[in-house]
Amino acid sequence: MPRNHNIAELRRLDIAHHLPAQADWAEIEALGGSRIITHAEGCYIHDGDGHRILDAMAGLWCVNVGYGREELVEAAAAQMRELPFYNTFFKTATPPTVTLAAKIASLTQNRLPHIFFNASGSEANDTVFRMVRHYWKLKGEPKRTVFISRWNAYHGSTVAGVSLGGMKAMHAQGDLPIPGVEHVRQPYAYGEGQGMTEEEFCDACVAAIEDKILEVGPEYCAAFIGEPVQGAGGVIIPPKGYWPKVEAVARKYGLLVVADEVICGFGRTGQMWGHETMGFTPDLMPMAKGLSSGYLPISATAVASHVVDVLKTGGDFVHGFTYSGHPVAAAVALRNIEIIEREGLVERTGSVTGPYLAKALATLNDHPLVGETRSVGLLGAVEIVADKATRARFGGAEGTAGPMARDACIANGLMVRGIRDSLVMCPPLIITTEQIDEVVAIIRKSLDEVMPKLRAL
Ligand code: PMP
Repeated sequence: MPRNHNIAELRRLDIAHHLPAQADWAEIEALGGSRIITHAEGCYIHDGDGHRILDAMAGLWCVNVGYGREELVEAAAAQMRELPFYNTFFKTATPPTVTLAAKIASLTQNRLPHIFFNASGSEANDTVFRMVRHYWKLKGEPKRTVFISRWNAYHGSTVAGVSLGGMKAMHAQGDLPIPGVEHVRQPYAYGEGQGMTEEEFCDACVAAIEDKILEVGPEYCAAFIGEPVQGAGGVIIPPKGYWPKVEAVARKYGLLVVADEVICGFGRTGQMWGHETMGFTPDLMPMAKGLSSGYLPISATAVASHVVDVLKTGGDFVHGFTYSGHPVAAAVALRNIEIIEREGLVERTGSVTGPYLAKALATLNDHPLVGETRSVGLLGAVEIVADKATRARFGGAEGTAGPMARDACIANGLMVRGIRDSLVMCPPLIITTEQIDEVVAIIRKSLDEVMPKLRAL
């Protein structure tokens, strides 16, 4: 049973003392404090005001096995009793850490058999950053330091994560990116590919990468990094053939390829890894979120043997965190993967719920505000436009309709995210087809509600 909380007091303390992540604190203060989420089960979260909300964001793209898994609680408690913590600095490791590394390696069919643990997706990308540059130095090509990334990519909130990412608003805070990261156009067909065929747009995006490599000089380029499907950028699903062509260009000039699988990993796109769905093979692969379904913070950077072989010639790799390979988080991740396998959640996403979501979202295409619906596996987006033909946005610029529609959805009992002028979703992989119908019905109702307000802008 959920505990009784004094919600008014928690809100007061929230305003007085808590600085929420990625938030406008003045706005939250004006709203009277954060929404306090008190408990959850399955695909539903509950707030302190008694609302039950269908969580189509799986927390923050992470609670893939859903809320309320007793066996994850038990796995954590058992490991805490036996060994709550030990590090991996002192030529030491713990049973769950090593077992989890082997398990992740097997999930890559041993293509990326070496696993470095961290606590967050950002840290997993910091590890990539340092590993890749160190690798090139050891390989005798120390000039290869530059990462090629995409505008509107998300790779985390640390200095390296923000720099690798392509979020201009994040760059503006902290004088980022740091030197050595170059950004190219993103494969966002709906927003940037109007008037082109899918193939033309794909080739233009790939050409931009090759042009950038040539501009920087291939001998200075270390790696290309990308999310198989951009998540926080607005569920940007690249055009057909994009990733194999990107991989070919990167390989042509000797760059390493990094697939940021922090959202796409562990079945989100209908296969275990997003790079399998998109048809390429990375050399390094950061992952987080679905690794433990968010029950505890843990991330990993999986690395191919040809990279580790070089790193092994360099003595100590002087990088790592207190919580690298945390035994309790590792024990929970292991049990979480067991649940994913036992319940066939990846296959179900690929063959049942993913296709169902695509069809259900497509029923929204007749709505006057909907410019496009798109999804891959259980990762979806609905584009909101003022004019379907011209793709013009409400208010003349992006960023009004998405948040407004999101607020309406939440008020109607559905947690989705409003990114620029789209609603995006990433529900737990346990979502049922009936719950998907509920998601789409609430989106339709919410769009109907905001339509007069948007038209009045
Ligand atoms: N990479 C990707 C693709 C992500 O989506 C995120 C988080 N949304 C991160 C990295 C950063 O992960 P974290 O917030 O755990 O640091």
